[in-house]
Amino acid sequence: MQRVLDRLRGSGALGRVMKSADRTLVAVGNGVSIEPDAFNDDPYVDLVVPTVPPQPACGGIDAQQTRGTARGTREVCLGPANAIVGGQRLGIIAGPCSVEDRQQLLEVAHAVKEAGAIGLRGGAFKPRTNPYSFQGLGEPALELLAEAREATGLAVVTEVLSVDQTDLVARYADVLQIGARNMHNSSLLAAAGKTGKPILLKRGWSATLQEMLQAAEYIIREGDSDVILCERGIRTFESYVRHTLALAVVPAVKQRSPLPIIVDPSHGTGVAVWVPPLSKAAVACGADGLLIEVHPHPEKAQTDGEQSLNIPQFQRLMSDLQTLAPAVGRAL
Ligand code: PEP
Ligand code: MN
Repeated sequence: MQRVLDRLRGSGALGRVMKSADRTLVAVGNGVSIEPDAFNDDPYVDLVVPTVPPQPACGGIDAQQTRGTARGTREVCLGPANAIVGGQRLGIIAGPCSVEDRQQLLEVAHAVKEAGAIGLRGGAFKPRTNPYSFQGLGEPALELLAEAREATGLAVVTEVLSVDQTDLVARYADVLQIGARNMHNSSLLAAAGKTGKPILLKRGWSATLQEMLQAAEYIIREGDSDVILCERGIRTFESYVRHTLALAVVPAVKQRSPLPIIVDPSHGTGVAVWVPPLSKAAVACGADGLLIEVHPHPEKAQTDGEQSLNIPQFQRLMSDLQTLAPAVGRAL
């Protein structure tokens, strides 16, 4: 045993001995990988077993799986053929925090489509911190979203809160959103992955990048590689913003994973006037798209009015992005 440990340590690895009933295992640490045949000449070593890599596979989906672009990012098609996130064109998904009524939804849907969005967001089931707050309209909201898709051609993005809602939401939605509160919910991640729909996975507000990639792995493991990551801000000691938008995660994802990443500056700041500047910053640092809350009358919104853009504000932002995008090799 000591000989094996010495040999491992000689190659820079840590060796930790674990005994089970019938075997002695040596775990190798320190990020060093040992070739499967490295101990062929040692009669006391039965087998070298590769361990689960610490870096999830979505840190390296193979080229065939990634309908990759020259930029190395997977192109995720949201449903309608021209609605792609991860391509050269920015994928803008916009709409109200919650679906409230037909008039509200259709007005926003037409406006964001006109301004260049490819997806319509809108919550039917809302994950509220306060159990007495508006919880969403449920299935009637899904019906309205489907109607808005018919009317505009926009892809519908809406949140699924629980495993038992997955089939229902997947019947109406083009993209299933897994919210920040559920990023660690592995059974929901797996159930969403089983639908085969594209998944918008929001970062938990206290989750690390590695944990977000591992959450994506729960979806990918079900055979569904169409995962779009979403930075939506994390919780820090800072209180002048609702959350702290961690934009460095965008280039960090680009280094580690072919999955596209979009940014949600609405939840990331909590303040409507800061949404345009942070949207531009997100695009400038390489985000593949944005998730933006838009409401025809933010002051009357049932949820998240204070961070929602009104329609003229959204139109102005889209026009600014049109100017900015070419500077970073993108189009709108
Ligand atoms: C939302 O998108 O409306 C939402 C609830 O987001 P998050 O899960 O990021 O809080
Ligand atoms: Mn919201």
